[in-house]
Amino acid sequence: MGLSKTIWANPSEFLRTQQPVDPVMFFAPAVLQSTARRFIDGFPGLVTYAVKSNPDEMVIQNLVAAGIAGFDVASPAEIEMIARLAPTAAMHYHNPVRARHEIAYAVSMGVTSYSVDSHSELKKLIEIVPAGAEISVRFKLPVSGAAYNFGAKFGATVDKAAELLRVVADNGYVASLTFHPGTQCTDPMAWDAYIRAAAEICRIAGVTARRLNVGGGFPSHRLSDQLPQIDAIFELIGRVADEAFEGTPPALVCEPGRGLVAESFTLAAQVKGLRDDEHVFLNDGTYGSLDELPLAGMIDRLSVVAPDGQRRFAAPEPRIIFGPTCDSVDRLPGEVLLPGDLAEGDYVLISGMGAYSTATNTRFNGFGALAIETVMRLDA
Ligand SMILES: *Cc1c(COP(=O)(O)O)cnc(C)c1O
Repeated sequence: MGLSKTIWANPSEFLRTQQPVDPVMFFAPAVLQSTARRFIDGFPGLVTYAVKSNPDEMVIQNLVAAGIAGFDVASPAEIEMIARLAPTAAMHYHNPVRARHEIAYAVSMGVTSYSVDSHSELKKLIEIVPAGAEISVRFKLPVSGAAYNFGAKFGATVDKAAELLRVVADNGYVASLTFHPGTQCTDPMAWDAYIRAAAEICRIAGVTARRLNVGGGFPSHRLSDQLPQIDAIFELIGRVADEAFEGTPPALVCEPGRGLVAESFTLAAQVKGLRDDEHVFLNDGTYGSLDELPLAGMIDRLSVVAPDGQRRFAAPEPRIIFGPTCDSVDRLPGEVLLPGDLAEGDYVLISGMGAYSTATNTRFNGFGALAIETVMRLDA
């Protein structure tokens, strides 16, 4: 593909004219920018972007163009990239466990916002980060509602969070709170429980939090008949923050990854073979950009385009789909409905593929040559 800057009308125009043999991600900047504006207009506070969900530079540039002015970064490499592409943006270093050299690098790059979930890591921050910076205590609750739970790795209990918040305030840092309800969180009540717990932590600690970061976790559209209720979640967050903090809530921040970026990419994977008319083998799989499907669940927003660009519409039949590698876990969850006239060489298009896909693609078994092409529209 080289440095070609071609912008295609839609995925089928590219597929018909280029006949790619490796998987292709189609990126629609217009979709990303309109999603970003929906968050900026609807969320009752500052919208930042969790870089890890898709660190493509075009993604960052389009988010900046749409007005996103803050980024959740988790590593020196992400800090370096955001400093380069969005020099005036705020960086929130919200990976709560960092090596000392990583903290020192962040300080040298002007990062003034950190998260923490333990006494040992707070001690490191206090040693290295100048007072006056913001330290957000990350807490967790035993609530469900997400596709998978981030609380399994990060977050202090309510009581420990109150202790940490006190230490943060006592050492001259701006004390804030942060949580992540778990990714692809389709139950708005998870935010309700977390925001009320945040108010409880402030009461126990006797500390007024400056800001409350309500995490990522905003769901993307994965199942055709389940539209994500983003506006209802925004409304609930604003209302519950007012109630829980009795009319004087901390300034709110969110840090979506998936909810911002997923909808702006569609994957096209080619059918390599229909093994004895039973199993579909694609040129992309769980070691490639479909890495997340076994964890987060299937996306059923599929369409099939023949090599001539025509969509296939025959009655759907359930199929088992395998990826290209020789590993038997390289299989998509369950059985997938695909048009009965599916043929070798066809392209299977999967919508809503922008998050945790290009970033976790591997070269295992020699596959994973994934191209990204820019399109005006994603509907084929
Ligand atoms: C991964 C992550 C996010 C983004 O989560 P999504 O579910 O993709 O919105 C936000 N904040 C932190 C701290 C994260 O680790």
